[in-house]
Amino acid sequence: MKAIEKVLIVGGGIGGQSTAIALRQIGIAVEIVEILPQYDVYGVGIIQMSNALRALDALGVADEALKRGCPYDKVKMCTPTGHQFNEIGTPPMGRFPSHNGISRRILHEVLHERCETVGVQFRMGLTVDQITDKENGVDVVFSDGTTGSYDLLIGADGVNSKVRKLIFGDYFPKYVGLSVWRYAFDRPKDLETGYMYFGKHSKVGLIPMTKDKIYMFVVSAEGADNPFIAEDQMIPKLKSYLEEYPVPMVHDLIDQITEPKLINYRPLETLHLPDPWYKGNVLIIGDGAHATIPHLGSGAALAIEDAVVLAQEIAKQDGTQAIFARFMNRRLERCKMVVEASEKLGEWELLEYEGKPLPEEANAGAVMGKTLMALAQPI
Ligand SMILES: Cc1cc2nc3c(=O)[nH]c(=O)nc-3n(C[C@H](O)[C@H](O)[C@H](O)COP(=O)(O)OP(=O)(O)OC[C@H]3O[C@@H](n4cnc5c(N)ncnc54)[C@H](O)[C@@H]3O)c2cc1C
Repeated sequence: MKAIEKVLIVGGGIGGQSTAIALRQIGIAVEIVEILPQYDVYGVGIIQMSNALRALDALGVADEALKRGCPYDKVKMCTPTGHQFNEIGTPPMGRFPSHNGISRRILHEVLHERCETVGVQFRMGLTVDQITDKENGVDVVFSDGTTGSYDLLIGADGVNSKVRKLIFGDYFPKYVGLSVWRYAFDRPKDLETGYMYFGKHSKVGLIPMTKDKIYMFVVSAEGADNPFIAEDQMIPKLKSYLEEYPVPMVHDLIDQITEPKLINYRPLETLHLPDPWYKGNVLIIGDGAHATIPHLGSGAALAIEDAVVLAQEIAKQDGTQAIFARFMNRRLERCKMVVEASEKLGEWELLEYEGKPLPEEANAGAVMGKTLMALAQPI
């Protein structure tokens, strides 16, 4: 049995960089190939619940993420007039708060700096064109014609993963009929934690990113055919959703939306790659295997957990197939739980926004509470 000494990671996003750090920490040589010639991460935020912070801690970056982000308590769930009817979040874990809000760009920088410290090799503007799986490793042809040989290849190239296509063939993400609009603002004085407002046609979230900045997300139903929204329609459409919310915390933001280019609009998709997510010496992690809509704010958390678990299993050095099988054992049900619960929440929201009756069992608070409590369990 050959020891795993050299790993190629395709995709240098949250999951890829997390995996690279985790593997360097156990002494494995790691190369990342990233298709972007240079990173250009957008500045709206991302929610990290306490389980994400616990996983970031295993990579040695939780404190930095907390320092450069904004720790906050549970999210207050409110009506459009501001009446609070519930609160939600994973429980705090030890020194980690229920949530940390952080700009995606800053989270990326935190991970990237750690990658540089631990000696991850980056090759930018590159992808894989051919993967040949052999008994003891993989041979790769890159898009610039160069070649390489590795003990393992990890596909961390996101929801439209090329590695997945090369290894497993075509699997396409499913559009769920909902979209998210995001925009960053100066932080209102009275915003002390995260807020979610539930309207009849949309849902609005306000999430702190630093002591001075927040980002807003708005979830809306844009139609089954996933229509293209022209730039000149972005501001009027986003503002029209916000008109449903008289609560000043939301209403006061309307006039501050001035720049269509700063609106980050994204149709929401999910993807379940069937078990197992590996073949031979190639494994798919993160969104490439289990992309979820953001209704539980946990997609990136799952990708970071994938990284931590994979390194723990590789450290045992008892053969790739045993390592990958144990990885699947620890990851499959947990990731499935999040993707399926998020899909359920999305389905109910869509029915509501379309003015259709909800099934009797629809209880979003219960589904969220149960899933987030389960995420607090050790990985
Ligand atoms: C609207 C929205 C809001 C979200 N909010 C949250 C949240 O609050 N909290 C949370 O935990 N998660 C959230 N998520 C989910 C989270 O963003 C993803 O789960 C996470 O980014 C997945 O990480 P990844 O590394 O698997 O993929 P990605 O982040 O997509 O990274 C993939 C990387 O691979 C590169 N790449 C792509 N193709 C190739 C190729 N062929 N060759 C080489 N490189 C390639 C890309 O350029 C990118 O750098 C949200 C998602 C959406 C859509």
